[in-house]
Amino acid sequence: MSSPLVVAIDGTSGSGKSSTSRGVADRLGLRYLDTGAMFRAMTWWMLRHGVDVHDPAAVAARCTEPRIVSGTDPLAPTITVDGADVAVAIRQDDVNAAVSPVSTVPEVRARLLELQREVIATDGGIVVEGRDIGSVVVPDAPVKVYLSAEPGARAERRAAEQGAADVAATRESLLARDQIDSGRATAPLVMADGAVQIDTTGHTLDEVIGLVVALVADAEART
Ligand code: C5P
Repeated sequence: MSSPLVVAIDGTSGSGKSSTSRGVADRLGLRYLDTGAMFRAMTWWMLRHGVDVHDPAAVAARCTEPRIVSGTDPLAPTITVDGADVAVAIRQDDVNAAVSPVSTVPEVRARLLELQREVIATDGGIVVEGRDIGSVVVPDAPVKVYLSAEPGARAERRAAEQGAADVAATRESLLARDQIDSGRATAPLVMADGAVQIDTTGHTLDEVIGLVVALVADAEART
């Protein structure tokens, strides 16, 4: 392939995007970018600086201030804001509750799009996961995947990942985020043109990774 390979993986919260994306990147020797972590890092910074996350103008006014840096090793992804490691902090309930409203703000999306494209353009192929990767960030990606799963399965996975005891509350939180993510005006969660949908409900992680790796092999055979 002439230009470095980009694998775009979109889907709802808890559909298995992160584990699948990291597994595919590891198997194929590619880099990995978690764009959700960037939106979470932006949100963490807003909360930390007392910005009202439900006031789009206030969020827009400050969204170029945080210095967000993503490490792209699929076996040890990192995320820092102004030099501080926020990998744990961005998974807490306060960020879960605020990240979708912050992500609806067009200026936030424009700022993070710029950062995402910088990372993608730096040497070597990459697996990029998010909500608008195949539709907006890299619309010409040769491999686009849309992962979905039934809400019950998604909530159980996410609760297990986070050590949360209350699966019902996790389910509500996921569905609330999906609704905002799918309904927003700028770059909503949609299945991109040319994406292949995989419902992960009845599959093991290894099976899903295998399906995506096969799609990459098909795409490479066609070029
Ligand atoms: O993937 P994750 O669940 O960590 O994403 C957190 C939130 O970040 C999503 O619910 C969505 O609001 C936002 N997001 C987005 N666009 C992306 C990735 C994440 O709006 N490409």
